[in-house]
Amino acid sequence: MRYISTRGQAPALSFEEVVLTGMASDGGLYVPETIPTLGHDELAAMAGLSYAEIAFRVMRPYVNGEIDDDTFRELVRDAYATFSHDAVVPLNQLDANHFLLELFHGPTLAFKDVALQLLGRILDHFLKKRGERAVIMGATSGDTGSAAIEGCRHCDNLDIFILHPHNRVSEVQRRQMTTVLADNVFNVAIEGNFDDAQAMVKASFADQGFLEGTRLVAVNSINWARIMAQVVYYVASAVALGAPHREVSFCVPSANFGNVFAGYIAKRMGLPVAQFVIATNANDILHRTLCDNDFSKQALKATLAPSMDIVVSSNFERLLFEAYGRDGAAVKALLERFQHEPTALAEAPLATLRESFASHSVDDATILEVIREAHHRTQEILDPHTATGYRAAERARADATTPMITLATAHPAKFAEAVVKAGFPGVPLPPHMDDLLEREERYTVLPAELSAVQAFVAENRR
Ligand SMILES: *Cc1c(COP(=O)(O)O)cnc(C)c1O
Repeated sequence: MRYISTRGQAPALSFEEVVLTGMASDGGLYVPETIPTLGHDELAAMAGLSYAEIAFRVMRPYVNGEIDDDTFRELVRDAYATFSHDAVVPLNQLDANHFLLELFHGPTLAFKDVALQLLGRILDHFLKKRGERAVIMGATSGDTGSAAIEGCRHCDNLDIFILHPHNRVSEVQRRQMTTVLADNVFNVAIEGNFDDAQAMVKASFADQGFLEGTRLVAVNSINWARIMAQVVYYVASAVALGAPHREVSFCVPSANFGNVFAGYIAKRMGLPVAQFVIATNANDILHRTLCDNDFSKQALKATLAPSMDIVVSSNFERLLFEAYGRDGAAVKALLERFQHEPTALAEAPLATLRESFASHSVDDATILEVIREAHHRTQEILDPHTATGYRAAERARADATTPMITLATAHPAKFAEAVVKAGFPGVPLPPHMDDLLEREERYTVLPAELSAVQAFVAENRR
C-alpha cells in the first residue's frame, strides 16, 4: 500500500512517511493508492468484538505491515484504554430509529480524541524506531489543541507546542491544555488573535531552519492517520446495528470534512451505508456546494458551535479527488481557481456526490431550539455541534426505516455557553474532570512575534 497526492505531482509515500509528512509537496493531501475492502464475512465476524479489536482489523491494511501486528494491537489497545466508557464510543438510542454515537468519552470530551490518542502513539513508535525526535506545533482556538496535547503527553520522542490566543479561549478549554504538566508539553498564550497564532505556525512550517534539522510534524486533520482512525467507529457502530446484513445512515456535524470523509472511506471499504447527511452551522460551504453548486468562500461567522467555524473545508479535497475520478490535474485546477474566485463543480462529479451525500445547515437560533426540543423529547442535553446533526438528520434523511446514526462530537459540559443560552442551568463536567478549575496551570505568554515564538520553541525542545 502506497499513498498518493490528490494533486497528482508529489511522490508516492509509505504509511510511515505519510504519517510523518502531513501535506504533500504539491499542496495536495495524501490518500491510499487503492482502498482496501472488508468482505461481507469479515464484517459479519466483527459482531461482538471489542472496539480495539475492530480498530485493529479495520486499520491493519493501511498500516501495511510497517508496524508489526502485536505492536500495532498494543498501540490501539493503549489508545482506547484512555476512554472512560467500556464501549469506547457507545450508541445511545434516541427514538425508534435514531441513534447518537457518543464520540466524547475520551480525555478532552470531544471526538478528536479518537484520532489523536492513536496518532501520538503511532508517531512516537516510528520516531523511536528511527532514533529521531520531532516537534509538533499547532495553533488552536479550542478543541484540537487539548486533544493533541492529551495525545502526546506520554510520548518520549515528541515535544508539543500549542499556541492559543491569550484570554480568548474559554476557561475550560484553556485549562484542558494548561493543566497538563508533562515535561514535553508547552502551552504558549499569544498576545494576539487566533489568526496571528495560525500565521506563526504556518510560517514555521514553511521555513524550519530555526529547528536546526529537527523534524516538525503537523497533527491537523490533513494527517492521513487521523482519517484512518475515524473510519473505525463507522464500522463498529454499523456492525452493532446489524451491518453487513442491514444498511445504516450517518449524520455528521462537519467543518473540515475529516470526520465525514472517514465515513465515506468506510463505505468504499464495503460498509453498507445508505446515506451520509452533512450537518453544518452557519458556515455552510459544504451545504452550499452540494445544494446549489456554489463552491465559494464566505466570511467567517462566529457561531454557538465554534469547533465548526471554518471558511474552507480542507479535507473536502479528498472527496473531490474521488468524485473527479482521481484526476489530480483537474482537482489542482479547481482548487487553484477556488482560492481566488467563486467556482462550481463539474456536473458529473457533483451528481456522484449527491448519490451518497445530503446536507443541511443550522443557524444559532435553531441550535438553541434543537437543544430544548431534543431534551423535551429524549431527556438528552446535546452539545451545540451535535444539535446541528440532530436537526439535519431529521430534515435530510431519505427514509425512516434505515437506522440513522448521528455523531455526537462533543460532551455538552464542554460548550456550556450554548446550553445555558438554551435555558438549562448547565451540565457538570464528568467525574474525572470535576477538579479542572482547581488544578495547577502552566503556560507562557509571548508577543505575537514570529522570532519570539521560534526562539521559545528552539530553546525549550528537548
Ligand atoms: C472538529 C469538530 C467538528 C468538525 O469535524 P471535521 O472533521 O472538521 O468535519 C465537529 N464537532 C466538534 C465538537 C469538533 O471538535
